[in-house]
Amino acid sequence: MQRKYLYFVVSLFIIVFTTTGQERSKVDSILGIINSSSLEEQTNLYIELSEYFVSNHPDSSVIFGLKALSNALQANDKFLIGLSNFQIGKAYYYNDSLHLSETYLLKSKTFIEDQNDTSLLFNLYNYLTYVYFDLYKYDEALKYQNLSIEIETGLINKEETAIRLLEFGMVYEYTGNIEKALTYYNQSLKLYREIEDNEGIADLLNNLGNIYHTLNNYQKALEYYIESSNIQKEIQNLQGIAIADNNIGIVYHDWGQYDKALKYYKKALETERELENENGISESLLNIAVIFHDMNQLDTALAYYNKSLSIAERINNINMLGLLYGNLADLYFTINELSKALIAQEKSLDFHKESGNEIGIADSYLMLGQIYYKNKLYQKSINYYKQSISILEPRKILLSVADCYKGLAETYAALNKYDLAYEYYNRFHKINDSIFSESMAKKLNILEIENRENEIQLLNEARVREQLQNEYVNKKVKIQKVIVIVLIVALIVIISLLILLIVQLKSKRKTFSTLKTQHQEITNNRQELLVAKEQAEESNRLKSAFLVNLSHEIRTPMNGIIGFSQILKEKGISQEEITSSAEQIYENSLKLLNLLNNIIDISSIQTGQLKLIEEKIFLSGLINDIYTQYKLNPEFQKPEIELLLNCNCKDDVQITADSQRLYQVIENIIDNAFKYTEKGKIEISCDIVNKFAQISVSDTGIGIPEDKQSFIFDKFIQLDYSSTRKYEGTGIGLSLSKALIELMNGTIEIYSKLGIGSTFTVKFPIK
Ligand code: ADP
Repeated sequence: MQRKYLYFVVSLFIIVFTTTGQERSKVDSILGIINSSSLEEQTNLYIELSEYFVSNHPDSSVIFGLKALSNALQANDKFLIGLSNFQIGKAYYYNDSLHLSETYLLKSKTFIEDQNDTSLLFNLYNYLTYVYFDLYKYDEALKYQNLSIEIETGLINKEETAIRLLEFGMVYEYTGNIEKALTYYNQSLKLYREIEDNEGIADLLNNLGNIYHTLNNYQKALEYYIESSNIQKEIQNLQGIAIADNNIGIVYHDWGQYDKALKYYKKALETERELENENGISESLLNIAVIFHDMNQLDTALAYYNKSLSIAERINNINMLGLLYGNLADLYFTINELSKALIAQEKSLDFHKESGNEIGIADSYLMLGQIYYKNKLYQKSINYYKQSISILEPRKILLSVADCYKGLAETYAALNKYDLAYEYYNRFHKINDSIFSESMAKKLNILEIENRENEIQLLNEARVREQLQNEYVNKKVKIQKVIVIVLIVALIVIISLLILLIVQLKSKRKTFSTLKTQHQEITNNRQELLVAKEQAEESNRLKSAFLVNLSHEIRTPMNGIIGFSQILKEKGISQEEITSSAEQIYENSLKLLNLLNNIIDISSIQTGQLKLIEEKIFLSGLINDIYTQYKLNPEFQKPEIELLLNCNCKDDVQITADSQRLYQVIENIIDNAFKYTEKGKIEISCDIVNKFAQISVSDTGIGIPEDKQSFIFDKFIQLDYSSTRKYEGTGIGLSLSKALIELMNGTIEIYSKLGIGSTFTVKFPIK
């Protein structure tokens, strides 16, 4: 919440408006003289008139000053121009037009500085001091005050010196140099007491009261104000009494003794009414309103604010209006009527701007920041806080700066910008600390001046306590920081360890899966190797068996040929024996030749040397031929076996193949059928199935076990290798047949059941 304004009266600047009949006649006589005078004389007279009216009727004073200036310009008199400018500056100062006053005073400065008139220059510097003081430009005020001090050393007038010292004290007071302010005030008070100037003494006591009030030394402030009030009563200065009562009220108010405060404010209000001083009435009403505001009796407070407001508006007291609207805004803010608060605060800002009250402007900005924060318009809020800081910071108005920092911290926190929020909270705390130490230091200074040892002791102890507490808080903050850092580090370590564990676990899992795959591969390889080994062993076994078979198959016919040739060589054998032996030799030779042909064929297929002669063959013709050939061959005429033909093809169905080789294949299959069939039937058939021409030979023979069917087309395969085997053969026939059929773009398949029979099918695509 904003600190509320109290109207704070400084005795030096009280202007009492009185015009007596005597004065009016003096003016008339001067005006009479003016008409009959020269330009220069007229100018001087206008300046005199302006000076005459300056404190009582500043408006008239300004008009006479401006008349003087226009005359001086006509006369082109540099000295008079300078003097007129100075006079106008003074008049504007009394007229509360501070900026205009500053302009004219500065215009006159160069002229006056050239004149070597110390008392005039002294006056100019003093006015500049007042103007800058009222414009809150304390640096400038001090500058001109110092310049005037230099001149003042040459002045010996006690009263003047007392006023000077009082003024210096005030400037130091307002610039925060309380020690110097007190020194000057006390020196001034001493002089006033010497010359027994009660009015001056009362003013000084009032100002000393102000100082102790600022230092929160309420007891002492009250002593000074009450003494001041007593003197004012003695000299019957009603205005002074009102001021003293008002200030006593303020002390009780700050002390929290609202009843007493109200009593004194009301007394001051009565006196102001008696004086018909509307400014004073308005000010007292404001102070009463603030009391009710502080007591949270907001309706009553509002009523008093409005009473004060209506007067301030009537007399157009912009300073008061600025303060009043500021307080009203604060009241509305408290009861959360934000739109009313905003309107009031903006009005307050306008009045502060008009009166050039920089501090007021800064306070308005601060309050606007708070209102916009509540309205959740955070950016606006930030802007106002920052504008306020830019005014308050250079003037070292730390309490308000602290409020701004706090406001900024809250706003940034609301915007989730925690970095900035943290920074501003830090600043806020720092400033609060420094305010505390500063106020302690001030109090110590004052007490040192007054030599109040025990209080110094107490304050020192308080300071030490505060320092210890600060140190404790700092230590606590440091420990908290360390704990937070340790926690963060621990967290980081734990997270890193977890990540490390996860990574390790992942890599272990990966390695494990790689190992598993490798293991699988090795197992597979081993399996394959075992299979390969078995195959190699099998093939080796087959090869040996084949060789045994082959030699047997060769040796048998060879033995036959040799045996029967032997018989032929013998003498005295019969013709019958000769014929039979020759037949045996012939048949064995054919068998041998057939075997050798098969061996040559299979090797020439392997080396790619076998050439086929492609031709178109009528399928049914081919089958019929083969059937007839077997039917007529006595070797295949067995009573237990019936040879059948089942041709389901049209006569014109043709296939492309090498007819001789095809004969060879079909014959080989039929031979096998006869070889492996004891009884039943052998059927040769042809069909067209799905654009394929099929030649099948089925028998009711011994059949082939299912697990052996896949490799009977492999080279040199016989299902029975035993030395006691029943069937002769080499295992070449089927592999050769397969190779030949595939060379002719056909396929050969087997369907067989053990003990039931077998069917061999040769297929050719029909083009
Ligand atoms: P082989 O000269 O031994 O007959 P093949 O290559 O013609 O050689 O035949 C390979 C093997 O297939 C034969 O040893 C036999 O075990 C089997 N086989 C071939 N045709 C038949 C069939 N019609 N019935 C039963 N087994 C057969």
